[in-house]
Amino acid sequence: MRALIFALTLVACSGGHDSRPSTAPEPSRAPIALTYLGVAGWQLDAGPTTILVDPYFSRPDLDGPVVPDPAAIAAHAPGRADAIVIGHSHVDHVLDAPAVAAATGAQLIGSESTARLARASGLPDSKIVAVHGRERIAGDGWSVQVVPSLHSKIGEQHLGGEIAAEPQLPMRFADYAEGGTFAYLVEVAGRRVLFLGTANFIESEVAGLRPDIAVIATGLREKVDDYTCRLMRALGQPPLVYTNHFDDWQAPPVDEPADDDLQAFVAEVKRCAPATRVVIPRHFERMEVP
Ligand SMILES: [Zn+2]
Repeated sequence: MRALIFALTLVACSGGHDSRPSTAPEPSRAPIALTYLGVAGWQLDAGPTTILVDPYFSRPDLDGPVVPDPAAIAAHAPGRADAIVIGHSHVDHVLDAPAVAAATGAQLIGSESTARLARASGLPDSKIVAVHGRERIAGDGWSVQVVPSLHSKIGEQHLGGEIAAEPQLPMRFADYAEGGTFAYLVEVAGRRVLFLGTANFIESEVAGLRPDIAVIATGLREKVDDYTCRLMRALGQPPLVYTNHFDDWQAPPVDEPADDDLQAFVAEVKRCAPATRVVIPRHFERMEVP
């Protein structure tokens, strides 16, 4: 299996924020495709490489024990993937990840809480990469930089905490503790794609990342001081932005016209980064980036 053949390497970032290895030749730019999976979920395809971010298809009833929906996962997960990165271990980011990893053969990359859930779900240790921030994980033709980040300001009762060391599944909604929050910079096909899955960030950690594409959570950003402009400045005004984590995470995915909040986000970007193009994705629509 491809995922087994390509050994992953886990190396610490050597300071600074430009993670391009100085000895490696710059890979030439090739087309990629992005598909919005709903909530904060994304599929990035680049030639033979597939990276998934927070894939969450189940949208289960959140009263009582919460279980993934195998039919929803089978309907939407790709046949194979190289890696799955998880921003934090709230249910709407992590619930389906172990099952999607098992179905696709992907390595599952996330916090210790995410790793605990993966182990309890039966994913073998060889497929789990627990990270703590600032690691760089490289596969064949791709890499992922783990960017320390912050959760959106949803209220203290939902923030912090860890999933139990040996969780008993199924867990309840409240057992899916945040477990720390990461953003991820994926480098593949000569591109740098930043995924920010919840609306907050640490300015010093994202400054200088200079992604070509930034996938940016918008919900509750009004609680973060000058979120959009500060982020656009820190990232060096990326040419292309996709909105993220803006749909109703408790309901089945439905494409609706951009609401006032999304339109306001587009206007904020236009004001702070006039050359940046903002795309509001539709669920499961493959968007080619030539
Ligand atoms: Zn969350």
